[in-house]
Amino acid sequence: MNNHVVLYKKLSAPLMQRLQAHTEVTLIDDPKSAAGLACLRDALHKADGLLGASLKLDAALLDLAPRLKVVSSVSVGVDNYDIDYLTKRGILLSNTPDVLTQTTADTGFALIMATARRVVELANLVRSGQWTQNIGPAHFGSDVHGKKLGIIGMGRIGEALAQRGHFGFGMPILYHSHSPKPAVEARFNAEYRSLEDLLKEADFVCLTLPLTAETEGLIGAEQIALMRPETIFINIARGKVVDEQALIDALSNQRIRAAGLDVFGHEPLDKGSALLQLDNVVATPHMGSATFETREAMARCAVDNLLSALNGERPANLVNPDAWSVKR
Ligand code: NAP
Repeated sequence: MNNHVVLYKKLSAPLMQRLQAHTEVTLIDDPKSAAGLACLRDALHKADGLLGASLKLDAALLDLAPRLKVVSSVSVGVDNYDIDYLTKRGILLSNTPDVLTQTTADTGFALIMATARRVVELANLVRSGQWTQNIGPAHFGSDVHGKKLGIIGMGRIGEALAQRGHFGFGMPILYHSHSPKPAVEARFNAEYRSLEDLLKEADFVCLTLPLTAETEGLIGAEQIALMRPETIFINIARGKVVDEQALIDALSNQRIRAAGLDVFGHEPLDKGSALLQLDNVVATPHMGSATFETREAMARCAVDNLLSALNGERPANLVNPDAWSVKR
């Protein structure tokens, strides 16, 4: 009997054909709608594999899937999954690192440029017919080149951001991570800082770490208070790493200069959010990896991981290696 896969994210035609050549597939169109969720719950009882993204898969939902062997996430972040629960059941969890690193770092740099040079605000001024004379200091921005780039979470994406800052813009690189990274220091002349010192010193504070129990709320009022009035804050990690209300307060009072945010505590961002009232905020719709090329590469990687696991092989991007020993 073929393995059964429940897809909760659409795939391109070639990837769908590949999956269908090896498995039976049920596609759930809109798993976040009430109807979609009901279909997902119905389909779970026969699922050997699950593939998708951006949906909280908690234990209550996964209890409906007694045959489940693998969850293949089309993302690098795995904060939507209860990893302990999956591991206990011997269910493999895979993700899609590397293929999205450069594209997500591009998004980070787009936010750095857009906030520092006030690109969205000033482009809107032109569009709305308010560009009636040469702009003056009221509309000036801040330089990016030569400014201190502070990276919190020096992993794959953090390193790609450092590469852009160091080689492209001559920015001194400061970083904070669990542990110092000698190779990164050598390559980018980067300097390790405690979280507190980085917040005090960096001109741009960029979050590129995962959302975990340890990082949830890592940046709150106390940490924001350490930043300088010129600091620009960039978040391309996860919204819940930051206390959003504390950030809104700091931006409203000009305690910090600006923020470029691709991720939010609750997504999609409520259209009544105070963040959207602030000229010094550039908000983007969690688009870090959203290019045609990269989204296809991520989906391909997720299909590869899924098919390996269903074939009894260890997937290339296994998040919970302990589940592999539970299984054997
Ligand atoms: P990664 O290679 O695992 O890097 C994460 C880094 O964060 C690691 O170097 C780790 O440090 C550091 N870290 C973890 N917990 C920390 C803590 N408490 N304090 C300080 N540093 C900590 O992951 P990645 O591929 O770069 O991705 C990072 C995150 O970006 C993902 O988890 C995801 O949430 C987010 N992301 C967002 C988008 C988007 O669309 N906006 C797209 C892709 C990814 P050590 O190495 O020292 O342990």
